[in-house]
Amino acid sequence: MSSDAGRLWIVATPIGNLHDLSPRARDTLRDVGLIAAEDTRHSAPLLAQAGSRARLVALHEHNERDEAAHIVEQLRAGIDVALICDAGTPLISDPGFRLVRAAREAGCEVSPVPGPCAAIAALSVAGLPSDRFAFEGFLPAKASARRERLQTLVAEPRTLIFYESSHRIVESLADAIAVFGAARAAVLARELTKLFETIIAAPLGDIAARVAADANQQRGEFVLLVAGAEGDAADAQLAEGRRVFALLREELPPARAAKLAAAITGASRKALYEGDRARD
Ligand code: SAM
Repeated sequence: MSSDAGRLWIVATPIGNLHDLSPRARDTLRDVGLIAAEDTRHSAPLLAQAGSRARLVALHEHNERDEAAHIVEQLRAGIDVALICDAGTPLISDPGFRLVRAAREAGCEVSPVPGPCAAIAALSVAGLPSDRFAFEGFLPAKASARRERLQTLVAEPRTLIFYESSHRIVESLADAIAVFGAARAAVLARELTKLFETIIAAPLGDIAARVAADANQQRGEFVLLVAGAEGDAADAQLAEGRRVFALLREELPPARAAKLAAAITGASRKALYEGDRARD
């Protein structure tokens, strides 16, 4: 790609408090020729505040494949482009990865203008181990799929981070209790950087009780962090998985036995199945 090509800037914007827009983000939004925004109407006030007069184009999950190609054409024509989402860092539970991939494949430069991200903001105040963590984004909307997903994480030793909306926070907390147990340490971060910011650090059961008791605590945007499984809990679960697997293995093919044992105990199907093959 010639050095005359434009650059794609991935620009983080505030998750609530507009003062969190960095000077560099403001300059970038002012300097580029084109801004791809998840929702152009939503972003208009922020862009006006930043003094941006750039052309706006919508880039969301429904048009990203087609729009990415158009934006790459603009980059090739020498136009600098900024990608923003409704709030926070683009690509983090938000559109953009296809555009970034297309720009990279076309040989265009892609640079971050880092800033707010709800997951990282929540982790930074949670007081849970932060040296390793697993970002899980949104859980599935359907209850059965949600529980299944949580079940796969029950022995995960890293701190878990979930995004949740007001529509499902009560159900998701109930499912988290059913899978991780009411005593598992957790943090619920609500409305970060906004007027009604609330951070509850308590066992899952206590958090669910506080949210259930107060309709105000069910409003807004949430990050739920769940402490990773203690080594002992993960070991005990795998041991139980192996015990159930051994029983089922007497009656069923190994792959089927491993699948059922994993569903019953929450142990990793792969660990059970591969442990069995290693013994053969
Ligand atoms: N890209 C964004 C980021 O960098 O955090 C996330 C976008 S995702 C579509 C929206 C979700 O992020 C919300 O449902 C909520 O789970 C979380 N979120 C966004 N802003 C938040 C805030 N101020 N407080 C708590 N959670 C927030």
